[in-house]
Amino acid sequence: MINIELVGKSALVTGSGGGIGKATALELAEAGADVIICDINKEAAEATAEEIFTMGRKSRAFTVDVSDAIQVQEMVKAVIADFNKIDILVNNAGITRDGLLIRMKEENWDKVLSVNLKSVYLVTKAVSRYMLKARSGRIVNIASVIGLIGNAGQANYAASKAGVIGFTKSIAREFSSRNITVNAIAPGFIRTAMTDALSDEVKSQMLESIPLGCFGEPSDVANVVHFLVSGMARYLTGQVIHVDGGMVM
Ligand code: NAP
Repeated sequence: MINIELVGKSALVTGSGGGIGKATALELAEAGADVIICDINKEAAEATAEEIFTMGRKSRAFTVDVSDAIQVQEMVKAVIADFNKIDILVNNAGITRDGLLIRMKEENWDKVLSVNLKSVYLVTKAVSRYMLKARSGRIVNIASVIGLIGNAGQANYAASKAGVIGFTKSIAREFSSRNITVNAIAPGFIRTAMTDALSDEVKSQMLESIPLGCFGEPSDVANVVHFLVSGMARYLTGQVIHVDGGMVM
């Protein structure tokens, strides 16, 4: 039987100060990986790293804006100096700045595209140098069902997540000969700070569109990340896995 333990692996998870990113970082650490935490929120990043450290794994927190090329390059250099390698990359950091197109400010378009999509290009490019040399790696990008079906009031977010899916498939093809798999997860409605901000009315409308009849938890996404970065998913690349209680099928 193939093991899903990750002992000896080092994983970088962006946006891992809270929500899905934090649950993923803890899940990978639980499976034995050393986990590098990266978040724009310093206190949150340090708190996650501390939790991982108390689990007996190596960890380090970086306060980084993943849409800033220089900050990303410096972080990856420091990670390699400290951890020697990055076996697993989870591009998770993301934001929303919702509004109908007619009222959407250009700065909210640019910000969402920058944090959700440009960051995936920047971090993947910086990390892949080392994965390509090692001829091994696992990359998981957190997209969204909104990137597949769209949503009124989320044109910027939907475009960014559709972009993440196109990027995932292209890079899966580019890296396949070097034993690097690249997959995406499209979560539906997961209970985090991002979705807590929605009104009760929107939440109950959402709930009606979920066949399994409940919202997802961050651990539901983290479990699928764990599977995708393990030996169990050796033969999977360029795929988009929906973790959405059946919302989109
Ligand atoms: P969350 O609870 O808001 O967590 C996102 C984390 O990323 C926060 O700690 C946030 O810090 C950090 N972050 C924001 N901008 C950043 C930047 N420029 N650089 C580095 N870190 C940054 O969100 P979540 O719900 O866990 O979402 C995680 C990912 O899943 C996102 O890509 C999101 O689009 C995707 N997703 C979520 C859902 C859902 O239902 N929750 C559904 C589909 C897809 P601050 O708190 O300081 O902003």
